[in-house]
Amino acid sequence: MLYSRFESKAWQELFLPRLSTKQVTELPKDKGVVVLPIGAIEQHGPHLPVYTDTLIAEGLLTTAFEQLSQEDQVWMLPPLPYGKSTEHVNHPGTFTLSSQTLQQVILDIGSSVKASGFRRIVLFNTHGGNNDLLNMIARELRIETELMVFRMNGMDFKAEIASLFSPEELSYGIHGGDVETSLILAIEENWVEMALAPKEFYDYEHALDIKGGPYVAWVMDDLSNSGISGNATEATKEKGIEILLRLGSKIASTLQVISSFEMRDLKKMVTTTNRKE
Ligand SMILES: [Zn+2]
Repeated sequence: MLYSRFESKAWQELFLPRLSTKQVTELPKDKGVVVLPIGAIEQHGPHLPVYTDTLIAEGLLTTAFEQLSQEDQVWMLPPLPYGKSTEHVNHPGTFTLSSQTLQQVILDIGSSVKASGFRRIVLFNTHGGNNDLLNMIARELRIETELMVFRMNGMDFKAEIASLFSPEELSYGIHGGDVETSLILAIEENWVEMALAPKEFYDYEHALDIKGGPYVAWVMDDLSNSGISGNATEATKEKGIEILLRLGSKIASTLQVISSFEMRDLKKMVTTTNRKE
């Protein structure tokens, strides 16, 4: 079953800012992780709200956190609703940060996570346009704060939902298609205008694809007239619910692993024997 946003564990019991400073101080922190959801506010075609990516972060984490308890010590921060959406900037309703601003905001929040005594942070991202930058920021944050820093993507476990979608959608439905539209139908049905849902894929059979080989830098208007790439006409609420449940459970178990992960265990303790005689 699904849990409504704001009435769930993610927004009540395990919502970090619900605690007082005394309670945060007293939390055990040797194990434990703070999750910072990062989305975007950007055009998603004529049928979806511009809040789509942030809403997906909220929906996935709401579902995932239902499987967690206080013993897991996984805490959620409020989502950072703005991302780097410069590839959509000429579409009204897109509200973007520059890469420099996004980097500084995340570094500042990370420093506060460190100052609050935690040892781990997860950057939980649901906007593809944030990916490259977040990988860089994650490493900067590690260097600046010595926190253990993890970057998760909402779609990290895409194989879990492969049976629900066409191969074309799974590979090239990169924005506002069947997957994202089904998710929003499951999370905020009334925010979707299905009568306007487009079907449009970019020409991935062209000499160069945007997903491999030499990298082709693109903005959305290079790929699409409708603002999407995917088949939104196939979207259903039932598929959206299934995505939330399947991905939510993988996200929950991954957060449990992260919560007790120790960076020092990554390095093998090999005794070197190649000393010169
Ligand atoms: Zn999106």
